[in-house]
Amino acid sequence: MAPRCSWMWRLPRCPLLGRNLSTTRRLGAGRSLSSKSPTPQICVVGSGPAGFYTAQHLLKHHSEAIVDIYEKLPVPFGLVRFGVAPDHPEVKNVINTFTQTARSERCNFLGNVTVGRDVTVEELQRAYHAIVLSYGAEDKKELGIPGEKLPGVYSARDFVGWYNGLPDNRYLSPDLSSETAVILGQGNVALDIARMLLSPLELLEKTDVAQPALEALSQSRVKKVWLVGRRGPLQVAFTIKELREMINLPGTRPIYDPSDFQGLGDILKDLPRPRKRLTELLVKSALEEPGEKEAVRRAQCTREWGLRFFRSPIAVLPSEDGKRASGVRLSVTRLEGSGESAVSVPTGETEDMPCGLIFSSIGYRSVPISPGVPFLPRQGIIPNSMGRVLGAPGLYCSGWVKRGPTGVITTTMTDSFDTAQSLLEDLKSGALNLSNSRPGASAIRELLLLRGVDPVSFSDWEKIDAVETAQGLKVGKPREKILNTEEMLQLVSR
Ligand code: FAD
Ligand code: NAP
Repeated sequence: MAPRCSWMWRLPRCPLLGRNLSTTRRLGAGRSLSSKSPTPQICVVGSGPAGFYTAQHLLKHHSEAIVDIYEKLPVPFGLVRFGVAPDHPEVKNVINTFTQTARSERCNFLGNVTVGRDVTVEELQRAYHAIVLSYGAEDKKELGIPGEKLPGVYSARDFVGWYNGLPDNRYLSPDLSSETAVILGQGNVALDIARMLLSPLELLEKTDVAQPALEALSQSRVKKVWLVGRRGPLQVAFTIKELREMINLPGTRPIYDPSDFQGLGDILKDLPRPRKRLTELLVKSALEEPGEKEAVRRAQCTREWGLRFFRSPIAVLPSEDGKRASGVRLSVTRLEGSGESAVSVPTGETEDMPCGLIFSSIGYRSVPISPGVPFLPRQGIIPNSMGRVLGAPGLYCSGWVKRGPTGVITTTMTDSFDTAQSLLEDLKSGALNLSNSRPGASAIRELLLLRGVDPVSFSDWEKIDAVETAQGLKVGKPREKILNTEEMLQLVSR
């Protein structure tokens, strides 16, 4: 551990202050850290939607607060860059709002800094009045079944990271030589994966999909994708817009077992509205004869996808030589209870689905960031009340690490505004102790310098962005993502 810096005690005498640190340029000239009423120094950990929406709300509703955003990757925006499907560019428009926030004179972006490794939460606590933990849910949930680690089985998280250019996943190189793929899980991520596997190449090549993924998908032999759910059609986790997109995917037809949907029409009127509309679409698509045009379209399709209900995975089956996956064993289930909260229970019957390509798409998972920060391992969240971390004054949380790995960007926005509001109330009420000034980013930069970590500023990111956009332009894509961290850092090296 590096020696303690003097800033922790008396900022003005810090020997490293005043050094021409390239990364200090946006600290904001003329701000006094030792004025009578200290400027609130706040930091946010994570630059996904939660981090940016929290920062946006704080900056908008407090005229002096300084908000620094720490991000472990050299590039910002979290799952907006590395999760949202490449063929959904409109969703990524939120980046424009985030960019406005980052360009604020009172906001600093410090990328390439992993909190918990390069700097501890405790060090941040000494440098800031308040810390908002918005570091998402980066890990995957595991099925916990035999064979899960066999080659041929991929987690949705890794596969999504691979096609979206996440540096950690650039060598995934999934084997797409199987004609059938099985996706375990029936959420929107499962639909994203099905669409990526089945989309015509001419649609994908105009997106920001990572180049190696585009090449691998062009060689893919996958023709049929099953999405397997442990519960029934009334419990699917995907949403109507995404289902409609899948039903209409060019070159691809849906396959249904009509018996799965019999009788559902009669109970539609009793369902809550979003579930009602979703089920209506499912029932219509599965049970109604398609019109002539649609019938012709479906007949001409060479790829297909289907929903398999009431099946819970119990084992991945190995090939004869035991070296890779050759199928999945499913327990046939029935429901206990009804509606959203119905629970699947095994009937005792099993069924094997042969296939060489299996995706586990059963959700993401947050991890603890520091032994000093409360964490509920079962729920995978930081315990909190309206974003205030329980038993840890000055600590807050927002986004997926606050409420678990579900919800779209707008859900995350609302939730982050709530957390920011709690923090602002605590500033106003005095619950947040402002009696001592805090050095904020300048002090943390010193520490990072001593540790050989060079943070990436937002204008550094804009250089990376410009290169990616220019490379993309050459091949008709919105951007060609740089896939490794070293190359990103070289672009901004000083
Ligand atoms: P994240 O977006 O994951 O951001 C967390 C950030 O924290 C990351 O940048 C991460 O690198 C950083 N971080 C992690 N650990 C550290 C650390 N120790 N130190 C510093 N930084 C750290 N929603 C939609 O509305 N539309 C969509 O089309 C859509 N598609 C999705 C596709 C996928 C595959 C997934 C998984 C989700 C999708 N969502 C979509 C949901 C949406 O992405 C989430 O609601 C949102 O990203 C959650 O925001 P977050 O900031 O909590 O987490
Ligand atoms: P999700 O919506 O929670 O879906 C997870 C799926 O996995 C569910 O079908 C769930 O079934 C199943 N599952 C969980 N544990 C299982 C187990 N042990 N065995 C078998 N099946 C299991 O998660 P997600 O698809 O990862 O999506 C995460 C969030 O991001 C969601 O809120 C989603 O809407 C959002 N997102 C949005 C978009 C978009 O807007 N286009 C795109 C991608 C993601 P049960 O219901 O039975 O638990």
